[in-house]
Amino acid sequence: MQIQPKASHFIDGAYVDDVAGTPIAVVYPATGEQIATVHAATPAIVDQAIVAAKRAQKQWAAMSGTERGRILRRAADMIRAQNRDLSILETYDTGKPLQETLVADATSGADALEYFGGLAGSLTGEHIPMGEDWVYTVREPLGVCVGIGAWNYPTQIACWKAAPALACGNAMIFKPSETTPLCALKVAEILCDAGLPAGLFNVVQGMGEVGGSLVTDPRVDKVSLTGSVPTGKKVYAAAAAQMKHVTMELGGKSPLIIFDDADLDNAVGGAINGNFYSSGQVCSNGTRVFVQKGLKEAFLQRLTERLQNAVIGDPLDEATNFGPMVSEAQLNIVAGYIEKGQAEGARLVSGGKRLDQKGWFLEPTVFADVSDDMIIAREEIFGPVMAVLDFEDEDEVIARANDTEFGLSAGVFTKDLTRAHRVIGKLEAGSCFINSYNDAPVEAPFGGVKASGVGRENSKEAIQHYSQVKSVYVRMGDVEAAF
Ligand code: NAD
Repeated sequence: MQIQPKASHFIDGAYVDDVAGTPIAVVYPATGEQIATVHAATPAIVDQAIVAAKRAQKQWAAMSGTERGRILRRAADMIRAQNRDLSILETYDTGKPLQETLVADATSGADALEYFGGLAGSLTGEHIPMGEDWVYTVREPLGVCVGIGAWNYPTQIACWKAAPALACGNAMIFKPSETTPLCALKVAEILCDAGLPAGLFNVVQGMGEVGGSLVTDPRVDKVSLTGSVPTGKKVYAAAAAQMKHVTMELGGKSPLIIFDDADLDNAVGGAINGNFYSSGQVCSNGTRVFVQKGLKEAFLQRLTERLQNAVIGDPLDEATNFGPMVSEAQLNIVAGYIEKGQAEGARLVSGGKRLDQKGWFLEPTVFADVSDDMIIAREEIFGPVMAVLDFEDEDEVIARANDTEFGLSAGVFTKDLTRAHRVIGKLEAGSCFINSYNDAPVEAPFGGVKASGVGRENSKEAIQHYSQVKSVYVRMGDVEAAF
């Protein structure tokens, strides 16, 4: 099987290549088979992308927001019309089951383009009366924005960054993860076909080094990264050296708190969604599942029963609901954590093994009797490993839930809504859920606090992160001066 793209990069409205760049093998996670090769961007390719973006941005910003938005909304319609093909490509890129990609990837990218396309015409400033004088503000684009993606949602991440950036009148250069380089090229092609002028959305391939060269280029005004906390610290520091705007969407180790009075099946469903969707490769996952002592055994029993319904196998078969890990490297990282969990004395309740077949398949894994100091309770695993911890009371669980450097998400399951709001109010997290887990509609802000990130994606909040405000004082009378 070969899914070779037309070329490695998409710059200035066209596919381009430079085979002098380091080859990057694209591997289908379900078989381990190489399905494409792309080349990392050489410095000449990076320069070409920045020159194109810089040139195109000025004219784009001069268009009305309504005109810009119309193009984004057209792209959203085209993405929806091609959803099946794009979902299959997403499945080849990531290994995620088609059952998921058909509803969660291109569709959520289209949502972002539609939403921000709709907002583009209403990005206005304000009028501030000052007696006879007045101030007006203008919301201006930042200029050239760089987006750097993780490998778990390659289409969605490209769209979540491109849509608000373009709506605000910026140009974007997007570097996908080297593990999943295919989907963003397709997004670029569709935006171009929808009428986006050349140079406004460019895709360059490469490892961290290429990302680094984009972040440090003085012609770049903003960097939005989706990635791990260690990468975020490096990119944030590099951007700060030139006082660039940043959005950091980073990792987490989020708490999901289940009280005794919770609806058992809903709580189990929330824990499954928050640990095993996309084979657990979701930043906001609630991987520390705190279950109140009275419900613990019933919870584990029901969870174990429902895990029997996991259909693991060929991701292109729509009956499959649990796919492989994205890469052999990620499989080995996660398998290492499973070994650590056992060595630390956590009780393996379910799963834990690699499947004896080609591809990077790992069973959905549940550990119980996990304590707060175990490595599997402290570090982001980014795989299908749920840690179940017991707790007795509300104050205790809030303190333990907050005892982490991360702060991306948090969830609470209880029928007592007063308690639900009280507990959520005290949890240190950016994206929270009550009697649900991992919903991410484009209308709601998404992002983390503490080490999990800076800024927000989606919703009107994202506009603040892709634009800046100019204020203009207008004096109607004479200027008074001391001399
Ligand atoms: P990663 O940090 O290894 O890489 C992310 C991206 O950064 C890649 O494109 C990589 O090439 C690039 N990169 C690496 N070093 C760089 C450098 N020095 N300068 C510039 N770019 C550099 O992350 P990953 O393994 O691809 O993805 C998994 C991580 O992403 C997890 O921690 C997960 O939680 C996080 N994530 C967060 C969100 C969110 O929205 N908060 C969403 C998805 C994934």
